Amino acid sequence: MSIRMKGTNAYGHSGWLTHKCVICSRSIRVGGTIIYTCPKDAEKLRAYFCEADARNVKYKCPFCGEQLITI
Ligand SMILES: [Zn+2]
Ligand SMILES: [Zn+2]
Repeated sequence: MSIRMKGTNAYGHSGWLTHKCVICSRSIRVGGTIIYTCPKDAEKLRAYFCEADARNVKYKCPFCGEQLITI
């Protein structure tokens, strides 16, 4: 009858959030360290990069070539 969404919270109410680096799959915690992302692909491709990989791609998005930004 009712749909329960136990354990699912799209808003991340616990106050912290992690992203996964698309290159090395390492979890990067928002607020804990610098995270690079592509303004065009952040939502579409979850294009987040750890600091080391951002440096490896010369701070340019490997998908579209856009300059990465920090969040
Ligand atoms: Zn990485
Ligand atoms: Zn991009």
